[in-house]
Amino acid sequence: MDLGKLIQERIRDVADYPKPGVVFKDITPLLADHVAFAGVVDAVVNHYGRGTIDKIVGIEARGFILAAPVAYHFGAGFVPVRKKGKLPSRTHEETYDLEYGTETIEIHLDAFQPGDRVLIVDDVLATGGTAAAAAGLVRRGGGEVVGLSVLLELSFLQGRDKLGNLDVHSLVTV
Ligand code: 5GP
Repeated sequence: MDLGKLIQERIRDVADYPKPGVVFKDITPLLADHVAFAGVVDAVVNHYGRGTIDKIVGIEARGFILAAPVAYHFGAGFVPVRKKGKLPSRTHEETYDLEYGTETIEIHLDAFQPGDRVLIVDDVLATGGTAAAAAGLVRRGGGEVVGLSVLLELSFLQGRDKLGNLDVHSLVTV
């Protein structure tokens, strides 16, 4: 079966979550399907090629679920980007705007070796604020951002506009 079609079938729209008027793309049915989950991981690894990446950055929390098996199959290390206050050691932090209010995310100061080639992995690219902040954290930590890989891109929210010339790989775009 076509992977893009399978992904779309396994992502569920949940109305009015996390607040009224928002339609949330729920990836838990996809994660529960071992064929779809493995297909997603393999597609990301095949797109970039083993040996081309030193570190995979996963963004809390759903990004972790995808980034960890991608890192394993690449033969790359895994680095978490977490919400403020969750990482135990010293961090860089970036704050960005949400629809209402702001969010702050962090990465450990010593997450990278200078020049590490880094791929950022997340589940959904929406307005692009999270991915742009994560890319900023990687660069401040001395890593080279090779690209951003997402399962699903909500193109009507124009997230790419916040990402400059960053290479964005989306398995499905709606
Ligand atoms: P952005 O910063 O691009 O607006 O939002 C992307 C971040 O919020 C990602 O880390 C993603 O996990 C989360 N996100 C925003 N909207 C959705 C959605 O509809 N479904 C899922 N699964 N995650 C979302």
